[in-house]
Amino acid sequence: MKRVLVSACLLGLKVRFDGLSKENKEILDLINNFEFIPVCPEIMGGLSTPRVPSETRDGKVFNKDGVDVTENYLRGAKETLRLCKIYNCDTVVLKSKSPSCGKGLVYDGTFSGNLVSGNGITTDYLLKNGIKVYSEDEFINKFKNIM
Ligand code: SF4
Repeated sequence: MKRVLVSACLLGLKVRFDGLSKENKEILDLINNFEFIPVCPEIMGGLSTPRVPSETRDGKVFNKDGVDVTENYLRGAKETLRLCKIYNCDTVVLKSKSPSCGKGLVYDGTFSGNLVSGNGITTDYLLKNGIKVYSEDEFINKFKNIM
């Protein structure tokens, strides 16, 4: 069975900044077709749950209090790649719009809900290292017919 790293919040784990999950039923419906391995780059980067929300700006990450947390985000990205290598896994599904996991669109750094083109820190790092990254919608659309 193909191994796929998946954002832990999509699987229902309460690891988000607000202490909640973002459980996605359509992802969970695919659980018998893949070996899902939960991953949360922000936790693996040394941040706590709950935590102050963060957004990317000019290639760095700042939390809403103005603290530069880029190092935590980079560490989480590297640890996620390490997990890919440990599990010999070349495919990940990451939660859209997150400053770590977003793909294609992320919040613009003003904490006003505006989205701009771009990837989260982990998404960018994994893509540069040859890992296939899907958003949850991309993954569902690609594989919903295999059930
Ligand atoms: S870092 Fe990724 S996996 Fe962790 S809570 Fe945020 S979106 Fe979910």
